[in-house]
Amino acid sequence: MEGCLFCKIVKKEIPSGIVFENDKLLAFEDINPQAPTHILIIPKEHFASLKEIPEEKKDLLAELLVAARQIAKEKGLSEQGYRIVLNTGKESGQAVFHIHFHLLGGRQMTWPPG
Ligand code: AMP
Ligand code: ZN
Repeated sequence: MEGCLFCKIVKKEIPSGIVFENDKLLAFEDINPQAPTHILIIPKEHFASLKEIPEEKKDLLAELLVAARQIAKEKGLSEQGYRIVLNTGKESGQAVFHIHFHLLGGRQMTWPPG
């Protein structure tokens, strides 16, 4: 999608620290990490948020989560645990409107989130 930051990362027009890539998904280091491990997992196809994923593409959501789980395992987070965040819409704090799961780990998390 024109002007979308994460679409530019997908097209490699903007550099990123890629940790995983396949034909449908891309995972890269968050530029402003909020934990020792902070990775974003996105579909290559542009959807603004969870709300825009159509019913016929719902399998993509499972693929994103399975990729996040695999990356967490490879980063050694499985035993201690990790947090996966999906901000959706303005009040959630979503800033980039290309759907992305945050994978956060490597420190004790707190609840409630800010
Ligand atoms: P959200 O608030 O859920 O929309 O999260 C957007 C995330 O994108 C934030 O954690 C930002 O630090 C991250 N971000 C913004 N620009 C970049 C970039 N060029 N490369 C990697 N991560 C980015
Ligand atoms: Zn996009």
